[in-house]
Amino acid sequence: MPDCLFCKIRDGLIPARVVYRDELCVAFEDINPQAPTHVLFIPTKHIATVNDITAEDREAVGHLFIAAAKVAKERGHADNGYRVVMNTQRDAGQTVFHIHLHLLAGRPLMWPPG
Ligand code: 5GP
Repeated sequence: MPDCLFCKIRDGLIPARVVYRDELCVAFEDINPQAPTHVLFIPTKHIATVNDITAEDREAVGHLFIAAAKVAKERGHADNGYRVVMNTQRDAGQTVFHIHLHLLAGRPLMWPPG
């Protein structure tokens, strides 16, 4: 998608601290981290919001969780815990319209979120 920030990061057109990449996803450090670990996992395919996920996206979307768990484990968060969350549309605070799974860890996380 030509005007999509995260497509540009995926393609290397905008710099980001990429921490993981495979054929289905790219993961990079959030530019404004909200926890000691704050990594964003995007599908290689442009999907604007959770509302736009289709049955054919099952593997790619499920794969985001596998990649997030891998990075969480590598960073030592498996036992203390972590949060994975995908904001959808205005009321949830979605600001970039290419779905992304936030991995947040490294401090106690409040629940419910604000
Ligand atoms: P959302 O609010 O859509 O759930 O999350 C968007 C996230 O993208 C935010 O946490 C924000 O800090 C992050 N972000 C926005 N622009 C950039 C950027 O240019 N580079 C990186 N690495 N993260 C960004």
